[in-house]
Amino acid sequence: MTVARRPIDSLIDEGFYNREQRIVKAITGQEMHAADWQIEGPLRMLFHVLDQNVAKDPKNLIVYGGTGKAARNWDAFEAIVDSLLTLRRDETLLVQSGKPVAVFQTFEHSPRVLLSNSMLVPKWANWDYFREMEAKGLTMYGQMTAGSWSYIGTQGILQGTYEEFGAIAESQYGGNLKHRLILSAGLGEMGGAQPLAIKMHGGVALIAEVNEEQIDRKISQGYLDVKSEDLDGALSLALTAKDRGEALSIGVRTNAADLCSFLLSQGITPDIVTDQTAAHDLLSGYIPAGVEYQRAQELRDSDRTSYLKLVSETLKSHVLSILEFQKRGSIAFDYGNNIRKQALDLGVTDAFKIQGQMVFMRPLFEEGRGPFRWTSLVGSESDIRRLDQEILEIFSENTKLSRWIKQASSAVHFQGLPARVCWLGYGERANFGIRINELVRKGVLSGPVWVGRDHLDSGSVASPYRETEGMLDGSDAIGDWPVLNALSNAVAGASWVAFHHGGGVGIGYSIHAGFGLVLDGTDSMQERAKRVLTVDPGLGIARHADAGYTRAAAAASRHGIRIPMKRD
Ligand code: NAD
Repeated sequence: MTVARRPIDSLIDEGFYNREQRIVKAITGQEMHAADWQIEGPLRMLFHVLDQNVAKDPKNLIVYGGTGKAARNWDAFEAIVDSLLTLRRDETLLVQSGKPVAVFQTFEHSPRVLLSNSMLVPKWANWDYFREMEAKGLTMYGQMTAGSWSYIGTQGILQGTYEEFGAIAESQYGGNLKHRLILSAGLGEMGGAQPLAIKMHGGVALIAEVNEEQIDRKISQGYLDVKSEDLDGALSLALTAKDRGEALSIGVRTNAADLCSFLLSQGITPDIVTDQTAAHDLLSGYIPAGVEYQRAQELRDSDRTSYLKLVSETLKSHVLSILEFQKRGSIAFDYGNNIRKQALDLGVTDAFKIQGQMVFMRPLFEEGRGPFRWTSLVGSESDIRRLDQEILEIFSENTKLSRWIKQASSAVHFQGLPARVCWLGYGERANFGIRINELVRKGVLSGPVWVGRDHLDSGSVASPYRETEGMLDGSDAIGDWPVLNALSNAVAGASWVAFHHGGGVGIGYSIHAGFGLVLDGTDSMQERAKRVLTVDPGLGIARHADAGYTRAAAAASRHGIRIPMKRD
């Protein structure tokens, strides 16, 4: 019996998807597979996030951040691909937590894909219920940029981490981290950016990681310098580099809690202490002390309750150590993985004495500044380098941005489709987006460019333990802003829009939105880019102005953003 050919078979023939081995490869080249670039764009970004060089665990469709997935399962992945390959230019594909559920006729200028990931009715929004639904095959965890097909490898977070440590360096140490020791943990797909970002500011990074493969992966990607299994050796290497003022990064194969206890026992107080294990997800993201990484899954499966007890003990000890470092003089902060709340729930009553990362980042958000990223959809490295030049010319007066672009262009290894990220503000994003579209139209760039951003941004997220912690007017948990963000990006002309729950800090603690814009050089995209890239950061300014931030109110006046009810 012959099996009817499916649209996806053409991508199998071309070697972009191996069904037997579940290998996905980023699609490159000028030849389109879908009806136009507005549809080819999301298709290519889906393949890109699942490329072996991009995703953390591609065989399980996991892209990053604990279990952040791009599609619910392989059948759903194939159905999404079939749908995109047959989608008409005026149709929209609806994706419910990683599964394609319907295609409707809309308009040519409407988004081609609308995605909702991990959403639950608030009263049911907890991990237990989520996992029950996940086990029934009814939902998936989309993290922030996994389920919205906007992840660009560790570089995406590298820029954010560069900004975060840069903001600390500027406010505390006169602009750099030379002669500073930074202690952290987790060399995952996001946490793996820490060592290089710290080095870019001249500091010494000592990072605990239980999974040796992750350490090797980060070394091979150029994000980490050396690996050590010996706590004494690692510490003496770090202290020597710190004394000499040499930038260095060391991945220590050990548990975070153990490395902290060791440093405390040696009387060493790092200048900065943080953590980027995936502690938002206690079951899958945080490994207990004394358990080899490879054995963790076995223990989880055989006795989940006992496993979680071990996790709790380790996490408590870890957070108590961070509090002790803080008492001894370290700058300690929660790097957005919800470790403080997890510790508080386990009885560490002082956990929130550790500050959140927004202490350093909020001033940027007040002005609508946030992470902006782009990829060459045809896979051209030279197009990305051409855009590096463009950024350096357009924003030549911004020295921090210029330093980043120069360092990134030499230090960052591309993963999947070549990409770049930098933080841009209101006005800057629209100008740059329009410029990219022009360069595509003129043929200066060899093909269309996707632009988008992290969901961690100025106006796109409500997350009371992270982005919206400690808002001036107490509006930390007000969830309307990300909803407005998604809706306004959809009507302003984004190529796709995604709305998610639980990214970064876990189920129950955040809701957030993202979008993708395919700059294909057309007049229509010129207009749509102008609107989306203005509305999106503009809402961030409005959100902060509404909460009483004077810098945001001033930015709104300066940019002529109309706010009907101004604060006194
Ligand atoms: P990931 O799952 O890819 O990696 C986590 C890593 O931590 C893994 O390599 C794991 O082996 C390691 N690990 C787990 N428990 C450990 C322990 N006890 N000791 C040492 N190593 C341990 O996750 P990721 O994508 O790197 O993200 C990490 C966390 O940081 C997530 O919670 C994410 O939501 C958060 N995050 C926050 C921001 C932000 O800007 N606020 C940005 C990125 C990530």
